[in-house]
Amino acid sequence: MIIEKYKPLVEQRIRSSFDQWANKVSVEEKEIYRFLHNLKGTAGTIGMKEIEKEAELKLNLFSDTGTRDFKYSEWYALLESLLDDVPTHLTEGNPSEGVFTQHIALSDLSGNRILIIDDDVDLAAYLKGILEERNYPVNIALTAERGLKLFYDWKPDMILLDILLPDTNGMDVLKQIVEKSQLEHSPIIVISSEDTRERRIHAYRSGAMDFFGKPIDSELLIALIDNRFRIKQQWEHSIIIDELTGIYNRKHFNRMISQLISNFLRTNAVFSVVIMDLDHFKQINDSYGHLMGDEVLRSFAAIVMDMKREEDIFCRYGGEEFALLLPNTDREQALELLQHIREQFLAHVFSSAGQHFMVTFSAGITDSQKDNAHIDKLVKEADQALYLGKQSGRNQTILFSPQMINNHNQPRLNILVVDDDPLIRDLVVTHLLQWQQNKNIQVLVKGYEDGLQFIHSDWYSEQDKYIILLDGAMPTMDGVEVLNKLREEYPERNIVVAMLTARINQTDIIHALQHGADDYIVKPFQISELLSRVERLVKKILNK
Ligand code: GH3
Ligand code: MG
Ligand code: MG
Repeated sequence: MIIEKYKPLVEQRIRSSFDQWANKVSVEEKEIYRFLHNLKGTAGTIGMKEIEKEAELKLNLFSDTGTRDFKYSEWYALLESLLDDVPTHLTEGNPSEGVFTQHIALSDLSGNRILIIDDDVDLAAYLKGILEERNYPVNIALTAERGLKLFYDWKPDMILLDILLPDTNGMDVLKQIVEKSQLEHSPIIVISSEDTRERRIHAYRSGAMDFFGKPIDSELLIALIDNRFRIKQQWEHSIIIDELTGIYNRKHFNRMISQLISNFLRTNAVFSVVIMDLDHFKQINDSYGHLMGDEVLRSFAAIVMDMKREEDIFCRYGGEEFALLLPNTDREQALELLQHIREQFLAHVFSSAGQHFMVTFSAGITDSQKDNAHIDKLVKEADQALYLGKQSGRNQTILFSPQMINNHNQPRLNILVVDDDPLIRDLVVTHLLQWQQNKNIQVLVKGYEDGLQFIHSDWYSEQDKYIILLDGAMPTMDGVEVLNKLREEYPERNIVVAMLTARINQTDIIHALQHGADDYIVKPFQISELLSRVERLVKKILNK
């Protein structure tokens, strides 16, 4: 059916060429050659065998390098019989028509763009018709110049290139586009009626992926095109997937963040960038082996994949670093997701040779703003926040704030929670982390399991300030003992201490205050009360 549509076009073309030439004093040999050459190709393709044969015979009378000019009487005498042939062939059936009733589901390939560079309008239009039936968008260039322009502007996924073009030789076009098209994995199929061994070798050597002879067998051509797109698709997929975890890689991250940025600049749709890094991963490799390390990476990837939304983009950014791109999500919403991921990952117990262990991660978050809408800036901000998370004890998520950039030489405020009850410790640390996100000061929050662990850790730096929340009753070294050590061995101007005490009796409180505590918080306490006391202590230490 579709072929029938093109048959009258062939007739029309012969007539219009003849009309055009009839108005000229003479016609160049090259032009006649090209006309016959194209006619042969088109007629063969759409099954007009007699015209194809006739054109081929007549082609022998002319040369594409010939310089003769043919007057009307001369060319008409030689070509007249072509017109006689036309009507009788219009009604002939076509053996290959059945092909076009057979629709193979290729929805996932459709949308791939095909550029046809061919000066034969009818053939190009015919191919456009059958390719568009397969939902491939098609553009036609009748000259090399136009072809090159469309190649650069329209960015086709495949190029069908005729060798014989009016302005430039198709092989020259091939040379100009081959490098870029290979970079973009867009195959070039050379289409030529001069289907010789030498031409094929030349085309392949010049970088064409395929060579297809005219007349075109459309069923064969479509099978070839589908096949090449399928391979292109698999290839493109493979280069953006990380082999170990099966999630996207950094290449895809870069591509997608660029899209989100331009979308943000156009529509103001906010998005968040999260960078996550597993804590002490080197130790996991060292203690349990690299295979176990790989297993941890896969598990982490699987957990995040399970928890993220469909539209979130999750990538392995490098070694044990991962990145999340969250469309239509601001930093606070991102933080919520990260808290869920943290809970899930912490609940995951790994086993290796009878040993059980858990793994934590640190994360940094930023979101798109007018002044950071650039890939390097966004990544740097998330990275800076992550770095701070590592510095303040790992296993936490930090939101980027602009103060982080200039804060390197200023005293840092640390809030240290020393409590042997893991529940209280986590509750306090989590709330303080959330609380500090809304402050204009940079605060690092860290928890310690007991007094001895705290005292022996490398917690102190002279230029920093500390608020220490100290549990009164701990098994290895109790709060008052720790307090004594603090007041004896460290300068008071850097450190304020609040005791967390279950003892309501006045003497204990007096005891704590006498040993140098600045405040006390009686357990059980309300979080709001804790936070308002911490705020008071912040004011106090910053004024010291
Ligand atoms: P930090 O908490 O500061 O992030 O410490 P870390 O040990 O996690 O960080 P560091 O960057 O020092 O070490 C990362 C390690 O991750 C080093 C590298 O050998 C390991 N690694 C990177 N890629 C892979 C991988 O694909 N498989 C395994 N098993 N290990 C990997
Ligand atoms: Mg790392
Ligand atoms: Mg790490």
